[in-house]
Amino acid sequence: MSKRIISLILCILMIFSLSSCATNPVESNTPTPSDSATYTAGEYTASAKGNFGDIPVTITFSDTEILSIVVGENQETPDIAKPVFEKLPKQIIDGQTLKVDMIAGATNSCKGLLDAIEDCIKQAGGDIESLKNKEVAQQIKDTIEKTADVVVVGGGGAGVAAASAAAQNGASVILIEKGASLGGNTLRAGGAYNAVDPELQSKVETKDALTNDLKAILKVDENSFGEFKDTVVTLKSQINEYFESGDTTKLFDTPELHIYHMYIGGHRTDKNGVEIHSNLDLAKTLSYNSLDALRWVASQDSNLNIKDEISTVLGAMWPRTHSLDTNVGSGFVYPLANSAEKNGTEIMLETKAEELIVKDGRVVGVKTTQSDGTPVILNATKGVVMATGGFAANAKMVAEYNTYWPTIPENMKSTNTANATGDGIIMGKSVGANLVGMGFAQLMPSSHPETGALSGGVWGSAESQVFINKEGKRFVNEYAERDVMASAALNQTDALFYIICDQITAGNPQPGGKNGWGDVIDDLIASGSIYKADTLEDLAKQIGVPADVFVSEIEKYNSYVDNQADPDFGKANFGGKIEVAPFYATPRSPSLHHTMGGLEINTEAQVLDTSGNVIPGFYAAGEVTGGIHAGNRLGGNALADIMVFGKIAGENAAAGK
Ligand code: ADP
Repeated sequence: MSKRIISLILCILMIFSLSSCATNPVESNTPTPSDSATYTAGEYTASAKGNFGDIPVTITFSDTEILSIVVGENQETPDIAKPVFEKLPKQIIDGQTLKVDMIAGATNSCKGLLDAIEDCIKQAGGDIESLKNKEVAQQIKDTIEKTADVVVVGGGGAGVAAASAAAQNGASVILIEKGASLGGNTLRAGGAYNAVDPELQSKVETKDALTNDLKAILKVDENSFGEFKDTVVTLKSQINEYFESGDTTKLFDTPELHIYHMYIGGHRTDKNGVEIHSNLDLAKTLSYNSLDALRWVASQDSNLNIKDEISTVLGAMWPRTHSLDTNVGSGFVYPLANSAEKNGTEIMLETKAEELIVKDGRVVGVKTTQSDGTPVILNATKGVVMATGGFAANAKMVAEYNTYWPTIPENMKSTNTANATGDGIIMGKSVGANLVGMGFAQLMPSSHPETGALSGGVWGSAESQVFINKEGKRFVNEYAERDVMASAALNQTDALFYIICDQITAGNPQPGGKNGWGDVIDDLIASGSIYKADTLEDLAKQIGVPADVFVSEIEKYNSYVDNQADPDFGKANFGGKIEVAPFYATPRSPSLHHTMGGLEINTEAQVLDTSGNVIPGFYAAGEVTGGIHAGNRLGGNALADIMVFGKIAGENAAAGK
């Protein structure tokens, strides 16, 4: 083997050890390759904008080839950008081409990386256009066929929970994932998990505003709650007992209050007058099992702990939000995926399910295609679990079904991975599954105005957040349901507002400190995603709102915290006041977050057909299903849903129920 080939192989293997590949550092900025060469050999560096600041890249060229691509330190969200930085450089070097596929769900990181790479290639005198057009011939691959007891489609939270549970119950399992990495939207989630937890919640001091909220529930008419009447009756007697106990200093909660909130939060009517509310049995299953499911997740990894804290994530309506010590959704994805693998699950990435295989009325497998074109047939002897998530990244499908937000733009940004395209709903429908709640979608009120993502900001829990519009005024109850806040936000100038925190309510960030997604807060301040100031007046100046209006609005809000009552918007729970410098403002705007509708399931996570019968061999869990949250999901209920129903689906599929 020639020296040059050995050196090339070493460089590919050691993409991150740049020094071994660098040749003849180049002085000139725009060298011209000699006549026979493609590049002027050497090492070139460039940066381009990703999601959060620049992505620096160093490329080493021989005179004919790109030898190595080194991605430098950057502020992209690590779990999301990882496949970009691993895959794209390899594809570019292997194929000596710029005709590469973007990694779905990480478009801005891909774009930043490719822009920086192009810049380096230009510096080395390469021909960008011909590299962009250079096809790499794909070999036609033979069909692969595999068989397992259980096939799980989709490697987000519900999928890894189902695979892990099925494998723990002795089933052989194949988990397929369309994307280049596991995690789906669950990886992008803030990690908030609702569970009624008497032990932990009884350690929390209650507040007058919450006590008043309970008193208000005692006055509701249970007869107006339809099939939820018995739940409301039980809840009222629990609240009466709480007041009669004489100790009302500790936080009250029961599964019935959680179910009541699911009813209130999800009972909606669309613009055509179609009214929906949560399915009572599914709501009960979620609430009664969510704490056990959380403990089950934590038990997968001895390093994983449930935090000894209760808060309220935005739109949760009550302080029952837990988190793992890993904070964000990755804490749910990786431990479950690892345990599934440890118990023998085969995980196939970049494998897209396209069609369910049905034999004699039973779902017995899935037809799939891998990203290199290889067709894969997966037979499932006991069951297929559909866990492909929602369709918020499928603008056409949202436009086709959406009847709840008729005025949102067709290409509204989304918090979702680009893989959330509703595939499982389409596949399920084609085998006769019933769809429920398809017209309803949830907008996340507080998304990044440019990217639509959840990440890229700093704020505390819902009780302490203050929303300020471009006029410097509050405009909504920040403890309301998400659709209420999103609707109010859409009516503000430019549909933009700022989440205001002080040093304490922001979680006391320290220099170099990170937010829950692993973004360095100082970097977010430097890139303009967060504003920080020593005084409220300066913060107002930085975000361009009238300082006098802003300061008096914050003072008024602080007085509401003292009085535990918000006469302006009826905020029902309060955290700290906004008073300790430095102060933070994170600009936000609504984006599509959760599609509420999907496959109808029963409490055993079995998919139902349009006549209400179980489709044998077919299970579903997570956002691909509908009916649990009805018209609007409570913040913090998605992770509870995917863990509870993912686990049930995996267990039942393993049993071939
Ligand atoms: P949930 O919260 O319901 O688990 P997620 O969005 O976290 O939903 O996960 C759904 C996963 O399913 C994503 O990782 C997505 O890439 C994957 N997925 C979507 N469609 C397909 C498909 N056709 N084949 C395989 N995986 C899919």
